[in-house]
Amino acid sequence: MSDSVAVVWDDALLGYTMGGEHPMHPVRLDLTMRLADSLGVLSSDRITVVRPSPADEELLTLAHDPAYLEAVRRAPEDPGVGHGLGTDDNPIFPGMYEAAALITGGSVQAARLVHEGGAQHAVNISGGLHHAMRDRASGFCVFNDAAVAIAWLLAQGYERIAYVDVDVHHGDGVQTAFYDDPRVLTISVHQTPLTLFPGTGFPEETGDPDTALGSAVNIALPNGTDDSGWLRAFTAVVPGALKAFQPQILVTQCGCDAHHEDPMADLALTVDGQRATYRALHDLAHQLCDGRWVALGGGGYGLVRCVPRAWTHLIAEAGGDALDPATEIPESWREDVVRRGLRARPPTHMTEGGYTGFAHWDPFTESRVDRAILRTRRASYPLFGLDPDDPRD
Ligand SMILES: [Zn+2]
Ligand SMILES: [Zn+2]
Repeated sequence: MSDSVAVVWDDALLGYTMGGEHPMHPVRLDLTMRLADSLGVLSSDRITVVRPSPADEELLTLAHDPAYLEAVRRAPEDPGVGHGLGTDDNPIFPGMYEAAALITGGSVQAARLVHEGGAQHAVNISGGLHHAMRDRASGFCVFNDAAVAIAWLLAQGYERIAYVDVDVHHGDGVQTAFYDDPRVLTISVHQTPLTLFPGTGFPEETGDPDTALGSAVNIALPNGTDDSGWLRAFTAVVPGALKAFQPQILVTQCGCDAHHEDPMADLALTVDGQRATYRALHDLAHQLCDGRWVALGGGGYGLVRCVPRAWTHLIAEAGGDALDPATEIPESWREDVVRRGLRARPPTHMTEGGYTGFAHWDPFTESRVDRAILRTRRASYPLFGLDPDDPRD
């Protein structure tokens, strides 16, 4: 297997734009690629930037109804098509079908490269649109590129695919797509659905009771969870579940909207906690899947201060040359932010000084995070034959 790492990118991916006032502005992707480039991350010998081609209908219908594809195609001329399109969350924009199909094609290409061994890891920061459903747009997501890529991998014969979603929102679209399929384990770590869209992702959602019990794991964290709490929860649940499942390939949704400044949600991670998360996912891919790792983007609405740093760390981590958090951000990048008239103050360093140490979980402590951990372990761990109360499991 090659130790090369593919980064899927083309400026055409910036065509997925829901309007200037919409929170998911493509400038976040543009600034990320420019930051990664200005820090020399993309010129690593190991990294190859590959251009995506759009997913065709055959691919898209792996996870979407033909009638929905037709609605997305028609929507710019016929805004009354329904299917969740034309709302504040999911506005219709020109070229919507083509832009969403290109993102999906990028995620399938990432999966294909890892599957065929052309790359050990592949990253598509434009992907991770995890809320889209089979027949409707939801939560800024038109096509569910993650579900399409996973369905494509299943068609190649995989029997155990793990999907880990660290976006602050529940990965409901991907969970729903494979809820009755024991070949796909979906794990989502998110802010509690009691206080955040989409209102699902409770620990008791563990997979279809008839066909796939144990195929979904959900950790619902209390508002305000910081780096240490988040990493404690992740470590208390995710590695154990993955080891029990023994995936052949790992697909991760690396949304960075759990950041403390994110305008859409209420967790309190820093880019340091996010960097540590990406490292943990990378380590798990090597430990469990012979390195086969497909990393997708996702949410993240701190356009200037969060997304570019978080995902530059992700690309560097995948590329095998993790960036020193103390790295200074080049003046040229900061000037570019100012020149674009973006309101946020551009960051100066790749760290926020976040504390990423944490004590490993045990069943005897009683913080709000610990209660969330225990609730998930009690709902899910017995389904893997693990003891929810034993911290060694
Ligand atoms: Zn999100
Ligand atoms: Zn690696």
